[in-house]
Amino acid sequence: MIDLRSDTVTKPTQAMRKVMVDAEVGDDVWGDDPSVNRLEAYAAEITGMEAGLFVPSGTQSNLVGILSHCQRGEEYIVGQQAHTYKYEGGGAAVLGSIQPQPVELEPDGTMPLGKIRAVIKPDDFHYAISKLLCLENTIGGKVLPMEYISAATSLASDHKLGNHLDGARLFNAVVRLGCKATDITRFFDSVSICLSKGLGAPVGSVLCGPADFIKTGRRWRKMLGGGMRQAGIIAAAGLYALENNIDRLAEDHDNAALLGKALAEIDELDVSLQTMHTNMVFFKPRDGRVEELTDHLASREILIEPGSEIRLVTHMQVSADDVLATAEAIKAFYQQS
Ligand SMILES: *Cc1c(COP(=O)(O)O)cnc(C)c1O
Repeated sequence: MIDLRSDTVTKPTQAMRKVMVDAEVGDDVWGDDPSVNRLEAYAAEITGMEAGLFVPSGTQSNLVGILSHCQRGEEYIVGQQAHTYKYEGGGAAVLGSIQPQPVELEPDGTMPLGKIRAVIKPDDFHYAISKLLCLENTIGGKVLPMEYISAATSLASDHKLGNHLDGARLFNAVVRLGCKATDITRFFDSVSICLSKGLGAPVGSVLCGPADFIKTGRRWRKMLGGGMRQAGIIAAAGLYALENNIDRLAEDHDNAALLGKALAEIDELDVSLQTMHTNMVFFKPRDGRVEELTDHLASREILIEPGSEIRLVTHMQVSADDVLATAEAIKAFYQQS
């Protein structure tokens, strides 16, 4: 089976399962789990933040982050296509009475500075209080330019807004740029990282930020039902992922590049090559026969997620041979029909 639907489908390797079996554990709600404490400290260290908070998912990590930055009646500025706006069930609005202010993104994933400036509200009781800017990096597999991050976050700071990074795939950006995580995170007050995407842990995210912010976040995490007990079993997998699986993301990027190049040779496909930076390849079948293509590939044990634009994601359980086999299977689809 070649599963290209997402890098969330990665399964823990034997080496990772071994550290899970051997993990020292305690009751994390009491602060007693050494494996969780180690993971939180390590995540904070590599992101250059004071403290970390281990949570079950990226959605909860971003939600705790927004709830800790904003009060009821305040708002966060966020990309219209960003995860923290579009794909988190409206959590900040539902659970925090915090208004999202979405802004249409450019094709490169940036929110134009002029548009950010235009939606930051003046102090007037007609408006919600603008409080936070949320960026996402990588976004749709794309790496935000460093100058852009610098400009957007200083614009926010100049208006006394906080800066939060949804860094679910931060390390894909780090590997692509050949930089340190802190080269990116230094522009932000808080960052959320996912352990369960390309890094290959079965579950978990870490929210990192200033110590008092994380103290507030710990209260929200408990309220949201994210206080876990002997969570060291899964935290150990997360720590293993951070210590061992970051550099290898380069292989996923290479495989995605190989896949993109092979697909670009198929006339029936319109492949977005310019914005292919990391482990994702986007394309549209020119004839629009998405369902048929999906079924054809499924019959060959290749899984893709159908959509108006199809996203293929490489990860640690997809090899170079797998991506070439996928390109061949797509080619065969157009030859037979
Ligand atoms: C996956 C993802 C999340 C949420 O993570 P879950 O663990 O699935 O809740 C948040 N932001 C981005 C950019 C993601 O890709």
